[in-house]
Amino acid sequence: MTAIDVGSRIRRRGLMLVLSSPSGAGKSTIARLLLESDKGFELSVSVTTRPRRGSEIDGVHYHFRTMREFEILRDNDELLEWAEVHGNFYATPRAPAEKAMAEGRDMLFDIDWQGAEQLREKMRGDIVSIFILPPSMRELKARLTRRAEDQEAVIAKRLENARDELEHWGEYDFVVVNNDLNQSFPEVRSIVTAERLRRDRRPGLFDFVSGLLDEKV
Ligand code: 5GP
Repeated sequence: MTAIDVGSRIRRRGLMLVLSSPSGAGKSTIARLLLESDKGFELSVSVTTRPRRGSEIDGVHYHFRTMREFEILRDNDELLEWAEVHGNFYATPRAPAEKAMAEGRDMLFDIDWQGAEQLREKMRGDIVSIFILPPSMRELKARLTRRAEDQEAVIAKRLENARDELEHWGEYDFVVVNNDLNQSFPEVRSIVTAERLRRDRRPGLFDFVSGLLDEKV
């Protein structure tokens, strides 16, 4: 946000930035860099039924839940979207996202194409979606193997699923090829900057322009 956008009487709505890609395309790294470099963003922490990986912390990377707990959240309408991905369930908790939007805070969603589709239907104008493409399938496989936190069978399944995810690239507002982070990350930053400058996300401009028109010169 710029100084012009601060202090407006009309509240700005937050931006919902959706990042999707096949596993291993570098989406998580881009998401981490964005959160580290831009304090205006907070991460939507998803609920999942998948087992926790060694490096993950409950409540930080995901809210790890049993299938039964997941079903209760879903049946109580506490999930903004949910989907089955790689045989596990994933979902976006409703309350934090709706609160962030209403309070004008920007939120980052690391979710798959099914989740992106549901958010587009429910939150329309608030959504900006970016699809991250790997430079090649060979590189995608190499990255999945290097990560090595998953079993070989899991890696094979993720590669197979990558093809399904890739088919949805055309539904996104923006597409970034992640060959080199030094290029792809600034591209993502440019998208964010441009989206924040959109007139309809800057209610503070009304006051600013009235001030300009009232100014005696
Ligand atoms: P992983 O198990 O590697 O953390 O994530 C697997 C996939 O699930 C990723 O593509 C990730 O974007 C997606 N995912 C994570 N959280 C959510 C969510 O809340 N909703 C949906 N629809 N997908 C999610």
